Amino acid sequence: MTAPADRRAFATEIVRTLVSAGHTALWAGGCVRDLLMGREPEDYDVATTATPEQVRQLFGPRRTLAVGESFGVILVLGPKGSGLQVEVATFRTEGPYADGRRPSQVCFATPQEDARRRDFTINGMFYDPLTEQVLDYVGGEHDLRVGILRAIGDPHARMTEDKLRMLRAVRFAATLDFELEAGTAAAIQELAPQILVVSWERIAQELRRMLRHPHRRRAVRLAQQLGLLEPIIPELAPVLADVEHPEWTHTLETLEALRTDRFETAAAVLLHTLPAGPAGAASHTEQGGTVRDVCRRLRLSNDESEAIAWLVAHRTDMEGAEEFPAARLKRLLAHPWAPELLAITEAEARARNRESTSARFIREYLQRTPAEELHPPPLVTGDDLIALGLTPGPQFKKLLETLRDAQLNGEVRTPAEALQLARRLTANDGGHRK
Ligand code: ATP
Ligand code: MG
Repeated sequence: MTAPADRRAFATEIVRTLVSAGHTALWAGGCVRDLLMGREPEDYDVATTATPEQVRQLFGPRRTLAVGESFGVILVLGPKGSGLQVEVATFRTEGPYADGRRPSQVCFATPQEDARRRDFTINGMFYDPLTEQVLDYVGGEHDLRVGILRAIGDPHARMTEDKLRMLRAVRFAATLDFELEAGTAAAIQELAPQILVVSWERIAQELRRMLRHPHRRRAVRLAQQLGLLEPIIPELAPVLADVEHPEWTHTLETLEALRTDRFETAAAVLLHTLPAGPAGAASHTEQGGTVRDVCRRLRLSNDESEAIAWLVAHRTDMEGAEEFPAARLKRLLAHPWAPELLAITEAEARARNRESTSARFIREYLQRTPAEELHPPPLVTGDDLIALGLTPGPQFKKLLETLRDAQLNGEVRTPAEALQLARRLTANDGGHRK
């Protein structure tokens, strides 16, 4: 992790070096937007008249990385181990867009032209950190002030060029809480069915960012209204078809009430109307329409897919927790995603204007119960049972589970007690002894 002040100082230093060498250099795009909004930019981008070749020469080959040299982008690295880096791109125009996603060529250009190739007015400004001046060729300052997300130039042409911009529009409008300018919205609505020319990886990347954000309800709603949600998750079509669908309304309210920054948790809420699908990431299903189908299509990682499917499958498992035997409660809470399931349980209750007594019970239980008590090392293992003369098999497995439950319930407290119970249980049932 780098400190904001270090990032800013480093990005200023890069501009100073370029300007000292006789080039024009400015901060560009998202970092200018963030600064003007009084937010700390995650990363700084520098735009310059220097060519990629000149940038590499100026900072040296060991401090630079060509990340997209054909597109004119050089990554300039900070001192070793600092983690600092800034993208330096030559002012350019792009086009034409052959595949609806990537420009087929770039030409070096003026700052004005570079501003016009950017997606939205609020993302199209420059800032000179040396003179502390904003350079705005696209009306970005105005739109930022009044809270409007507007495509630069002709919205229809800009969305046609690069269909990913449609999802970026939803993300920016939702996360910044901006209004989507009418022409921009109309263009997206018209072109939405073409969103699938964008790779699933990029679509998933945008979804992650939308769903992690506290404004996720607005993002999902906007995507739905613009017609972007259905092509991406056609499995939701039955619920989306009916605007007043009570379950969909509840889903949106739960998304809003959800307090988490995990994408998986919000995705599970979004997909809860679908069956979870079989366990095991590699398994396939004939019927289609399961959570796992959606995850697979979005190229989510195995970890993400497992977590989402688990959260969907166990969605209501915390209800009535106050009445659970200790073993059942501990097994549930020992799961790594249990805290997120708790977040869903709480959000569902909040969405219904209720408080979940089960959720409150679990929160208090987790507070007073150390992890080693939730998930203690087993008192007896399979090897111990084999030493008793038992043969591995379904009965054997069941016996181990029973012993584990007894341990979690506090009915047996030592290995000797557990073994004694094992002997007693198998004596009653001679069937699976050797
Ligand atoms: P964030 O990093 O929060 O997503 P950002 O605006 O910095 O926001 P980046 O993807 O980092 O977004 O891109 C940096 C800048 O590059 C943008 O501000 C915009 O000017 C330009 N840009 C990025 N993607 C596109 C695109 N698909 N079409 C046109 N311009 C783009
Ligand atoms: Mg950025």
